Amino acid sequence: MSMEVILDSDPRISVGESIKTEINLKLDEPQKMWYGGVTLLSLRPCGKSFQLLKDDLFSEGIFTPGQYIRRRDLVVSPRVVPTNADLNISYAVRTNISFKEPEKPEISVFDEKTVEIIGRPPVAPDSISPSEISLRGMKVQLQKDIFKPGEEIHVSYQIEPSTGINQIEAKLIQIQETSCSCPSFRNICSHNTPTSEKTIKRHSIDEPTLGSLKIQIPESVSDTHDYQWTSDPLQSHNMLLDRLNWTIRLEGKRQSGQALVFDVPIRVYSDFPKIEPSDQLFVEGRKGLETYLQRAVKQISHERQGKDRNLFKLKNEGPRSLKGVTIKVAGIKRELFETKPQMTGYGEWKEGEELSICYEAKHTEDISGFQFILEANGSLPHRIAVKP
Ligand SMILES: [Zn+2]
Repeated sequence: MSMEVILDSDPRISVGESIKTEINLKLDEPQKMWYGGVTLLSLRPCGKSFQLLKDDLFSEGIFTPGQYIRRRDLVVSPRVVPTNADLNISYAVRTNISFKEPEKPEISVFDEKTVEIIGRPPVAPDSISPSEISLRGMKVQLQKDIFKPGEEIHVSYQIEPSTGINQIEAKLIQIQETSCSCPSFRNICSHNTPTSEKTIKRHSIDEPTLGSLKIQIPESVSDTHDYQWTSDPLQSHNMLLDRLNWTIRLEGKRQSGQALVFDVPIRVYSDFPKIEPSDQLFVEGRKGLETYLQRAVKQISHERQGKDRNLFKLKNEGPRSLKGVTIKVAGIKRELFETKPQMTGYGEWKEGEELSICYEAKHTEDISGFQFILEANGSLPHRIAVKP
């Protein structure tokens, strides 16, 4: 095999955190790089995927054989809807690297890993808020409004005989709303489910006057939650929503068939699952390694050769060879525009070795400077500005 890519990434993170990824590209032969990147894909209830995040790794240029290791952190917005197997919402990190020789078809290598995105624990309430509702002679009371799965809810009631109510029923209801909008597919997703209500438990008492109804929340139920993610509303307006609420519906039934109905909203929160520490690979130092590239490459010389040709020379002044080096150069025009970037990859850059990079761009006379971005295995990108 002349080229191979392996992706490593955090298997599990919370919304608002970043997914640490490591991409390892191995080349046995020189290659003409076309593009390399890493993305976070969302797989939605309808099965359609959407690119939530993207980071570039490599751009067009020649790469010599070797191993190119890149680390990227994909920061997941706190608004992202967490993974939910019941709703078919899942996430994957994918790296895709493509090569292209002139006149030849593009060749790609890729790797993909699933990542579980979990919701943030709710903020613990400062105090317990009891609920009391009184309506036309029927009064109900809850000692608090937050419960755990498996807990028993006590609903105290007091009913005036004048109400004519001969039965009271309490239902524990789960209200689920899931919504997916995929405008890139030119329609609103067919998998939209309107708000659905499900009675989880019910309990009734005949001839009620004064007492309490007990209703137990099952052990395995979903927490109250409200997640809504939208892409830039000015653009395509992709949207994913997952909302779940709980309520106690009380119904005071009369002989006549008429009933008094009202809802007492409650919240259900279980203990938040502990996040295992990420793979040790990522925990240990990004420090130390970050600065060695800065120490190794201090300056870049520039020489104009003819109208559009620029020759740059740079030396590895560090104490050791650098592995998986990429050098990206672009011209800056009037501080705003960039000329077409060029990237060169070196599997190894030996200590003391001088590299020559030739960069050609049209109308280089307009160029006010050059921007270099150097990266190597285990280093952070290192930027160097070169004035002509
Ligand atoms: Zn959809």
